[in-house]
Amino acid sequence: MKIVFFGPPGSGKGTQANLLADQLCIPHLSTGDILRKKLKNEDDLQSQLKETLSSGNLVSDDLLNQIIAERILSNECANGFILDGYPRTMSQSDFLFSFMEKNNFSLDIIFDFKLDFKIVQQRIMNRYIEEKRADDTIEVIKTRLNKYIKETHPVSKFFSNQFSSNYFSIDASLEISEIQKELIKILKKGEN
Ligand code: AMP
Repeated sequence: MKIVFFGPPGSGKGTQANLLADQLCIPHLSTGDILRKKLKNEDDLQSQLKETLSSGNLVSDDLLNQIIAERILSNECANGFILDGYPRTMSQSDFLFSFMEKNNFSLDIIFDFKLDFKIVQQRIMNRYIEEKRADDTIEVIKTRLNKYIKETHPVSKFFSNQFSSNYFSIDASLEISEIQKELIKILKKGEN
């Protein structure tokens, strides 16, 4: 099963992607998590990444494309994967489409988490208090939301056209367990 999650920061897509990955026994490829892990390496990339992540701006398309291509081709993704946080720009989307064509695979399901931006801001502030993430402050939230609207929303729109029969909008204001049930219901329907 090959799944892509779209949704603004704070929409809960990471939590749901994690739960679903456990359930389906496939890897959860969260590019945010992958980049935060790279921050721990003491190399040239570290300081560059630190600056970009803490400002809420996007890391270069080339780096993300390379990371994702490597992971998808690795054995861990033999039975599928969940992409969370990628593709985030039209350039990443173009790369993914040509990569899929070259490697002869497609995507099974697209979940697009929809949430009012006021709730997004509140949720991220709560996460800032709980997790102390450096990129969860009010100024950075604004940058991240603007990036989402400008760069990622056009990508999710493009996916909704390309995968019209397996694209699903999800009401991200619901409780975690309700959203989980909804995702499973959609997956089960797809099996019939
Ligand atoms: P996330 O945890 O998905 O909100 O990602 C945290 C940060 O990692 C983002 O604000 C970006 O700086 C960076 N990032 C994650 N995924 C991507 C991507 N696909 N392209 C560019 N930057 C990314």
